[in-house]
Amino acid sequence: MIDLKKLQVWFITGTQDLYGEETLKQVAIHAEEVAKSLNTNEKISVSVVYKPIVKNTDEIFETLQSANTDENCIGVITWMHTFSPAKMWIRGLNVLQKPLLHLHTQFNRDIPWSSIDMDFMNLNQSAHGDREFGFMVTRMRKDRKVVVGHWQDEEVASQIDTWCRAAAGWHDWQGAKFARFGDNMRYVAVTDGDKVEAEMKFGFSVNTYGIGDLVAVINAVDEESIQNLLKEYEAIYEIADDLKAGGARHSSVYEAAKIELGLRKFLEEGNFKGFSDTFEDLHGMIQLPGIAAQRLMADGYGFAGEGDWKTTALVRACKVMGSGLAGGNAFMEDYTYHFDPENAMVLGSHMLEVDASLAKGKASLEVHPLGIGGKADPARLVFNVAGGDALNASLIDMGNRFRLLVNEVKAVEVEQDLPNLPVARVLWKPLPDMKTGCAAWIYAGGAHHTAYSQNLTAEHLSDFANIAGIEYINIGIDTKINQFRNELQWNEVFYK
Ligand code: MN
Repeated sequence: MIDLKKLQVWFITGTQDLYGEETLKQVAIHAEEVAKSLNTNEKISVSVVYKPIVKNTDEIFETLQSANTDENCIGVITWMHTFSPAKMWIRGLNVLQKPLLHLHTQFNRDIPWSSIDMDFMNLNQSAHGDREFGFMVTRMRKDRKVVVGHWQDEEVASQIDTWCRAAAGWHDWQGAKFARFGDNMRYVAVTDGDKVEAEMKFGFSVNTYGIGDLVAVINAVDEESIQNLLKEYEAIYEIADDLKAGGARHSSVYEAAKIELGLRKFLEEGNFKGFSDTFEDLHGMIQLPGIAAQRLMADGYGFAGEGDWKTTALVRACKVMGSGLAGGNAFMEDYTYHFDPENAMVLGSHMLEVDASLAKGKASLEVHPLGIGGKADPARLVFNVAGGDALNASLIDMGNRFRLLVNEVKAVEVEQDLPNLPVARVLWKPLPDMKTGCAAWIYAGGAHHTAYSQNLTAEHLSDFANIAGIEYINIGIDTKINQFRNELQWNEVFYK
């Protein structure tokens, strides 16, 4: 979907003029080797670009300022190989607008016991040089991620990649456009929110388009394109005979294909990264987009139903962060519960729009009545979803701030047939357990809509919230309700 290698993080090594030319030459050689090693590490999804070492206030300012304006630079990694007096960093850090990762490493892994001398000590000073830098970043109240360990340590590479992916998601949001067809579903609270504040905070814009403007594009779709897409449906999905060309109910699939093509054209022409619609505003449309939304999501568009623009944006960010990893990122809704005390779990789904990238095995293209909205029976893909580690993430507007809430879950295989359930479905068990997980979610004000991820970890989302400068709340294996409620209360004070 997105080639993350096109994006760059800049590797910036701090030092000072004090050490003399020979030492500084050595610092530069080491720094370049570390940057190159990170750049070629298969665990790291973006390009790591070596930048000349910085020795004084002006060089630091100029390097960080150009990071701000370089359109491929999504963040900077800093490392103090030697001591870099941190007042030199104030001017640069003051203007830095890109995400910051502080890599606390040193060139040598081990102390060279038999050869260590004062020359070695003067060259390899990150143990104290990075502390001086760390003080300044903390004193300036700047958010950053600190990663500690030797640069050839694979765990260090993984942590760096997690942050790089979060920075890529953030970069993708800057200037992103999301389209809403119709307004928020009437009377619904959690899906609504402050779009002006969101644009100031997150960098993406959300604007509404009349459903009639979309319908006009759908109605102008040419016959040949529709026929080609119908052939594609028949090749990829299980599909009943009466839905195929010449079948009694073929017109439903025909309309769905036409909607998909029109919607895709509208999004491409407007350069949108995602969209939302609502079943309450479909004037001129024959059916609610089902398979269209499912397939557009699988192609990387953000989506959420009922005007939920926050989840639309979050789903898109998750897709960018998870780019190239096995598994999918999808719009999801907690639908109904299995309260068996021995095997409690949540069934997640939506009316129609479950992301086709989650499908395990061949999906079935089906047409069934929707039950609400009063439109024709919509086509949708029906499938099961694999088990494994996953998470649900929810972005909510608390009035004075945005909160990103994450619940880590264990997805389980769907073992029953569910012959009468005409939508794609997922089963999961919230961590730390059903009762605690659901109670914590509700205390935290988490939405019924989420971004469901099979390939991101809580650390990706935490890094992302940190970069965005918003509140992050996690519900995981260690969550205890009393402590969790205290955390929510303490955060109220912090954000007052
Ligand atoms: Mn919904």
